[in-house]
Amino acid sequence: MDGCSIVWFRRDLRVEDNPALAAGVRAGAVICVFIWAPEEEGHYYPGRVSRWWLKHSLAQLDSSLRSLGTCLITKKSTDSVSSLLEILKSTGASQLFFNHLYDPLSLVRDHRAKEVLTAHGITVRSFNADLLYEPWEVVDERGQPFNTFTSFWERCLSMPFDPEAPLLPPKRIISGDVSKCPSDTLVFEDDSERGSNALLARAWSPGWSNADKALTTFVNGPLIEYSKNRRKADSATTSFLSPHLHFGEVSVRKVFHLVRIKQVSWANEGNTAGDESCNVFLKSIGLREYSRYMSFNHPYSHERPLLGHLKFFPWVVDEGYFKAWRQGRTGYPLVDAGMRELWATGWLHDRIRVVVSSFFVKVLQLPWRWGMKYFWDTLLDADLESDALGWQYITGTLPDGREVDRIDNPQFEGYKFDPNGEYVRRWLPELARLPTEWIHHPWNAPESVLQAAGVELGSNYPLPIVGIDAAKVRLEEALTSMWEQEAAYRAAIENGTEEGLGDSAEYAPIEFPQDLRMDIDREPVRNNNQIDINRRHEDQMVPSITSTLFRVDDYETSSDVQQHSVGDGRAEVPRNVNANQVQVREPPNQGVTPGSPAPRRNNVTPQRQVNITFGLQNIEIEQSTAESSSTTGGSRSSGVVPVWSPSSSTFADQYINDDATMGPGSSFLQRHPQSHELVNWRRLSQTG
Ligand SMILES: Cc1cc2nc3c(=O)[nH]c(=O)nc-3n(C[C@H](O)[C@H](O)[C@H](O)COP(=O)(O)OP(=O)(O)OC[C@H]3O[C@@H](n4cnc5c(N)ncnc54)[C@H](O)[C@@H]3O)c2cc1C
Repeated sequence: MDGCSIVWFRRDLRVEDNPALAAGVRAGAVICVFIWAPEEEGHYYPGRVSRWWLKHSLAQLDSSLRSLGTCLITKKSTDSVSSLLEILKSTGASQLFFNHLYDPLSLVRDHRAKEVLTAHGITVRSFNADLLYEPWEVVDERGQPFNTFTSFWERCLSMPFDPEAPLLPPKRIISGDVSKCPSDTLVFEDDSERGSNALLARAWSPGWSNADKALTTFVNGPLIEYSKNRRKADSATTSFLSPHLHFGEVSVRKVFHLVRIKQVSWANEGNTAGDESCNVFLKSIGLREYSRYMSFNHPYSHERPLLGHLKFFPWVVDEGYFKAWRQGRTGYPLVDAGMRELWATGWLHDRIRVVVSSFFVKVLQLPWRWGMKYFWDTLLDADLESDALGWQYITGTLPDGREVDRIDNPQFEGYKFDPNGEYVRRWLPELARLPTEWIHHPWNAPESVLQAAGVELGSNYPLPIVGIDAAKVRLEEALTSMWEQEAAYRAAIENGTEEGLGDSAEYAPIEFPQDLRMDIDREPVRNNNQIDINRRHEDQMVPSITSTLFRVDDYETSSDVQQHSVGDGRAEVPRNVNANQVQVREPPNQGVTPGSPAPRRNNVTPQRQVNITFGLQNIEIEQSTAESSSTTGGSRSSGVVPVWSPSSSTFADQYINDDATMGPGSSFLQRHPQSHELVNWRRLSQTG
């Protein structure tokens, strides 16, 4: 043994403020490794644009490591832990360092890695590089995790110790001997994807030093007006840091410290707008923290509602609706524009994410996990924890989520977020000539106006696939059914005729539609150079980038942009999909389109057996362990792998929250106090 260390890179693709790398360098010679094992992610095989990002991020990391004296060894694997073992054996390394991740799959895998490698005599140390505070550090006075964002964030801001200051990159790295550990060539894209991917580079620059530049540009530019401008859906007013943050190209602690430094200086100058912008931006960062916090404390939150009664909600299982939503063919211009932008660019502003997801779960009443999975497949910043938090929040399955009976009207939202219709015109060229008065509700436009604009409803642009009034009625009925079933279920438990656990342990998530499951059906890749191109979603084959994303420095005018989108975007959106759903003209607000099959409600009969779709079955997950809970506050190097420590109470009565960002209205709470009983996750571990 030469005592060298392996530094295992995952979603911490940077050399600056990387505690695992810093520890490796301190310990002596280092071998840096990245293992590509996407099959381990189950359903959550990374989408095309996310793989594109990763490819470039790894290239930049490798180049930075080379300039410091070593390189990045890349390995293709179907089992990261076995690969680590092989690497450790072939290099004679005796230590492994890595940074924590908090998504459920990583928690399980990292725990296993630690157990297996320790049993082989390897010293394993892990660190916090992804969060301001470790999830187990942020607890209430009883030592319990918080269950609302507001209480969580208040606690973060009043912690007795500040987040650690970021570390500088190492001056140089002594490389371990990699001669017996050659890299595998990793292939992240196939020929059919290369052309579309090339266009992404016009708008985005992956890699840690580019992330650093993006952060500096934002902090010295749009940050000062973030509070006022962040909701403007069609301009570069936010940081665009999310994909950088997802891959750990920039340290969240660096973001925090830079913003705080600005805040102090603006506060000293009496710049209250700047000061407030920093608060609001840090709150956004807080939401990202919270997403990891939720995932750590409730590791099933990407597949099960956190509020137990939601398991009785009769979701509409209709692949036709789902397809129309994906294609941007719902008949609601703002929703359709958003979905076409997502399809074409891999990006959506937060406001538009809210609009399209809210429409998905409340108007179409499709299962939220389908939407979450589609976002996962298509977003550049696809991030399981943030994605799950976003969808659960919009659906109303969180204690402080939106009211479950709230339904937003895309017509009104259109005039709120896109008052002049420019965003719709950019992404829906078929409506480009429609006057602003009708742009968000073309179905009400007089025939003469439609004709003059070249719009033929039901032909070149669909009529609404579901009327809002009909959706309201249907939602009301669905909620009534949900509460009835919930009451019956509770009564059965109380009468002893049902032994139910009273939580989502008995909830089998609705299966993904076939085309969303394709990625999981991949056979383990035998040939590293082969990506299975036959199994991709047909309607996601050739996205291209248009211009909304050009950054401040190379931003195009809206007329340039319009030309782009007409040329690039429209041709690529399949025109023939779902034709039977959109051809028949129906009066608005009349329910589902005639001719489409009646939507099917899911079978909500609770199932006794938990059908857990990722590899938890065979792994005993520890309850809160000394390791995870004994970590001292402020210690960056925890030396432990975060261990899933399910909370022990049902947290029934503390969810009244009126925070504007996350929090249901009080009337809803009063009507349905039981709506705030959180799933008892401890049970899940027992049945899982
Ligand atoms: C249904 C839905 C799904 C979402 N899916 C994702 C996802 O897969 N990946 C993702 O990174 N974000 C997701 N978000 C959150 C948010 O939309 C994006 O983080 C944000 O739009 C990214 O743009 P930005 O970097 O310019 O954000 P800024 O406004 O500049 O915010 C700075 C950073 O704060 C974090 N942040 C901001 N808002 C949120 C939020 N609501 N939840 C979690 N983190 C937040 C992000 O890391 C972001 O980069 C989702 C939101 C919704 C409503």
